[in-house]
Amino acid sequence: MTSAELFDRGSRVIPGGVNSPVRAFNSVGGTPVYMASGKGSRLTTVEGRELIDFCGSWGPLILGHAREEVVEAATEATARGMSFGANTVAEVEFAELLCSRIPHAEKVRLVSSGTEATMTALRLARGVTGRTKILKFNGGYHGHSDGLLVAAGSGLLTGGVSSSAGVTDTVAADVFIPQYNDLEAVDAIVAESGGDLAAVIVEPIAGNMGVVPPAPGFLEGLRTACTRCGALLIFDEVITGFRMGPTTYGNIAGVTPDLTCLGKIIGGGMPIGGIVGPDAIMEQLAPNGAVYQAGTLSGNPVAVAAGMKTLEILIREHPYPRLTALGADIATGVNEAARRHGVAMHCAAFGGSFTCFFRRDPVRNLEQAKDCDTKAFAAFYHAMLAGGIYLPPSQFETAFVSAAHSNADIGVFLEVVDSALAQQRRNSE
Ligand SMILES: *Cc1c(COP(=O)(O)O)cnc(C)c1O
Repeated sequence: MTSAELFDRGSRVIPGGVNSPVRAFNSVGGTPVYMASGKGSRLTTVEGRELIDFCGSWGPLILGHAREEVVEAATEATARGMSFGANTVAEVEFAELLCSRIPHAEKVRLVSSGTEATMTALRLARGVTGRTKILKFNGGYHGHSDGLLVAAGSGLLTGGVSSSAGVTDTVAADVFIPQYNDLEAVDAIVAESGGDLAAVIVEPIAGNMGVVPPAPGFLEGLRTACTRCGALLIFDEVITGFRMGPTTYGNIAGVTPDLTCLGKIIGGGMPIGGIVGPDAIMEQLAPNGAVYQAGTLSGNPVAVAAGMKTLEILIREHPYPRLTALGADIATGVNEAARRHGVAMHCAAFGGSFTCFFRRDPVRNLEQAKDCDTKAFAAFYHAMLAGGIYLPPSQFETAFVSAAHSNADIGVFLEVVDSALAQQRRNSE
């Protein structure tokens, strides 16, 4: 069966044909591609086409697809029993490893997704502070729990509005939403409502509006603002944790949050999430504390085995300088091609993460990201796909290189970019 036939068939029994909305290709048009397998940097579609993958399952696959040691670890764990609903040695070892890599982590609670991690972190922050309000940034994505599906309201100092049917206005009103990288707005909110603020939650490198690095002093400023008003600073490192180094980005940047949320990479491709922080906060979780949280499959032995092996390999092989170099090669190559062809776009890269923004100037926040030419992105996306490159199917996402990508893979990527932009120029003439 072809992807088109499968999408047709899937759409009859799955809402929109997908189990997560952005897979539906709604923002680039066309039919989603169905995958048969992945190995290293390559995907094989159900049609038997080979694609070079720069989506990396949206972040987890920093070692590429089906890395042998990870597959072996998960397979062995599977054979020993896929779930016990009781404690295992692996959970202890995994928590010890995370605590040893993340300085502010004295305790770890594992969950099954990034969404659960941020949801739990916010409940914990409210439980610990006894306050109700949350600050998140416009365009920051922290999973799909009610309190985080909130868009900016009419005024900065009033709360947000629901961005999904089914999320009540009452929930949305508890969330302040300034622009990313806007410390002045944060300070204004803290001056007005700091006493009600339970937490500031932020992706220390924004990844869900395309990759947008923090402006110099931004994370430090958030730390200062939170300390001043007594709100907890939560770094959502579901993407950035172990992506820029074998630790959190907060640790690399030298800014210590109160809580860090993890996911994606720490599961090595299996469903996982985690909340880490100091004893004084983490012990407020049930069973010792009053903040309830639980999960049938939390700390699942197969997920922990895949995650543990992934982190061990990252620590052993330290692919980070190479990932950064490949990301820089991509950005340089794309930006040269954009200039050569006179296309209004630029590629932003941070470590091995990158986004091709169809806008000439750098993007600092969601407003500017929204200014991108999404039609041009859609045409680019399909030209890249036709040329054998699989990117995340939206302008507002981050693409990733993995340790399995070769220099030759990057060379092919840049050749396809060149012909995609040449085509774009011809179409605009
Ligand atoms: C993916 C993501 C989440 C949600 O994780 P899921 O495992 O999809 O629930 C939360 N925060 C950030 C920054 C993410 O990128």
